[in-house]
Amino acid sequence: MNSISELNRFFLSKTLASTYKPTFMKCLLDLGDYKKDEGQKWIKDIGDSLQVDLNFIAVRFIRLYWPLLFKFKIKQEATATPIAVYRILNEYASQFGENKSQPSKKLLCEDKFNELRLKIIREGIKPQVLRRLLNDCKIYELGSNSNSIIIQKDIIQFMKDNKKILEAALNHTIEEYLEKINQAPNISIKLEEKQPRTVLKSDDFSTIIKMQESRCFYCDESFTLSEFAQEHFIPWNYLFDTQSFNIVAACKECNSSKSDNLPNLDYLEKILQRNQKLKKISHGYTDEGFKNLYYSCKSEYHGIDKPLWIRN
Ligand SMILES: [Zn+2]
Repeated sequence: MNSISELNRFFLSKTLASTYKPTFMKCLLDLGDYKKDEGQKWIKDIGDSLQVDLNFIAVRFIRLYWPLLFKFKIKQEATATPIAVYRILNEYASQFGENKSQPSKKLLCEDKFNELRLKIIREGIKPQVLRRLLNDCKIYELGSNSNSIIIQKDIIQFMKDNKKILEAALNHTIEEYLEKINQAPNISIKLEEKQPRTVLKSDDFSTIIKMQESRCFYCDESFTLSEFAQEHFIPWNYLFDTQSFNIVAACKECNSSKSDNLPNLDYLEKILQRNQKLKKISHGYTDEGFKNLYYSCKSEYHGIDKPLWIRN
């Protein structure tokens, strides 16, 4: 089996009906270097191949879809009906606590999530990926018990050696698909495992504070320099970028009260006027573009029916 030609075949085929196939392949990339407590019990050495129980894949599948659903609120389909994986994650989310941060692989391997993993396998992986992917990319065979796949060690080695390249290519494939149904910017960065949170340079932030005459952008109270927080006007998780046109200086109370909500229209008007006076602004900024971002954030991230934030 030639892994390169099979992978080429996958990237050449343009028949994606969802992000399931490339996401499944991202899970396979993990076969080269997982830690002991991240599902080793589901892997059996059978000579020149490994037999991989689908639970191993399900753990990674859940982890990859998790931030797209709960953190970034990225749609997976143009219709109102959610895909099976989103529906199942919503069903089980309450078992993971209030803040919905991405669960670790280790946690997802625990027995208490047997039912969740099984559902993901039965309703997502099996009907949507397992046999269908083989038409585009024959890099594994189905195991005899139908709950596992057999994959050759040399293919796993190849994927390990080229993990970064393959991951980037798969993310690109997923992004291409998601871009058609979401207006949210920076989807490709949102798909990466490590997502750094950036801040504005302190000089640029001081300029903004001076422009606001050391008053909080939202409540208009006066504060000292060190009391201000860099506040992403359009929530960070939607824009996923730190640009001066979206940063205001806010007092700690306003900052924490606003959280990842979208400010109301008076504030929108205020920031548009402020941005007219910004000297250092990214090339290509327009009022129209900023308004578009604001309204797409409202519909895709904030929620159309949810009241816009205002400081009481
Ligand atoms: Zn304030």
